[in-house]
Amino acid sequence: MKEFEEKFAARFGVKHAITTSNGTASLHLSIAALNIGKGMEVILPAHTMMSSAAAIVYTGATPVLVDVERDSWNMDVSQIEKKITKKTKAIMPVHIYGLPVDMDPVIKLAKQYDLAIVEDAAESTGATYKNKLTGTLGDFGCFSFYANKIITTGEGGMVLTNSDKLAAHARLLKDMAHSPKQRFLHEEIGFNYRMTNMQAALGLAQLEELDLYLETKIWMAKMYNKLLSGLEGITLPIEKSWAKNVYWMYGILIEDSFGISRSKFMQELLDRGVDSRTFFVPMNSQPALLKMGLYSKEKYPVADEIGMKGLYIPSGLAITKVQIEKVCEVIIEVHKKFHGKKHK
Ligand SMILES: *Cc1c(COP(=O)(O)O)cnc(C)c1O
Repeated sequence: MKEFEEKFAARFGVKHAITTSNGTASLHLSIAALNIGKGMEVILPAHTMMSSAAAIVYTGATPVLVDVERDSWNMDVSQIEKKITKKTKAIMPVHIYGLPVDMDPVIKLAKQYDLAIVEDAAESTGATYKNKLTGTLGDFGCFSFYANKIITTGEGGMVLTNSDKLAAHARLLKDMAHSPKQRFLHEEIGFNYRMTNMQAALGLAQLEELDLYLETKIWMAKMYNKLLSGLEGITLPIEKSWAKNVYWMYGILIEDSFGISRSKFMQELLDRGVDSRTFFVPMNSQPALLKMGLYSKEKYPVADEIGMKGLYIPSGLAITKVQIEKVCEVIIEVHKKFHGKKHK
């Protein structure tokens, strides 16, 4: 356990790495360790996985949304400032599908308004923003080692921080907050977010392969980019000059001009033996959050749009060149069949 944490911290160049039971726990633990709770707000993108918002709700705080960019599918950082109130305590950038958020403006706002930054780096292990690793740019960086993530321990997670104080609080809360003065005395409500030694042993082995995994993801994306470029009606993921995208998942958008809907497109792929998955349903459309009285009068048009049009095609680490070529052949065939024709 200790070795996994130490090697991870060294690999990421941070002072403290704290193992957790999963990525959702990493996020919750970070927000709780910042003493964020009832009556406070945390700003996050509308397009993300439910875990990001749920982790905020667990503490009693309110998840406040900003819309995402049409091209990067990431948090539109120019929309953050207008969402800051007296109750705002933190910003949670989510590096979606492996592409880093434009962090400099986020860091600037956090300084200006005295806010914490909790990075959700669950999809971006190894990605860099201006040569700095995602998960090391804020007060806390949160990772997931779920089975389909870039490195995996089956279930598992990690929290990174450079703050001794925050690290100590996170370690305390992660293990039921046993008082350092007296065992079985608890001054706070902690959690059991411990990782097992077996998982840590897996993580240690996976960490050694990280560079290889990243190379594979980037190679996969380059192949897809090459084979799928120029198909009108399909929007491909973008690169940013300041970022290294690690392509956790290779996402595409089926635009109106394609000629068929996303669901019809996915069915056509499936009929030809190619599986795909839809993008996340945006947070502003989650019944669990709407029931809390959130977002009913707010608009997140880009998150809505990409949530309807986006899907990801096979992106696992075990994918082969032949499989990538097959996926692309199928997509090109479906494109030829429907593009420019009227089908409903
Ligand atoms: C996977 C993921 C999580 C949650 O990780 P778990 O280990 O499944 O709890 C959180 N945020 C994002 C963006 C994710 O993709």
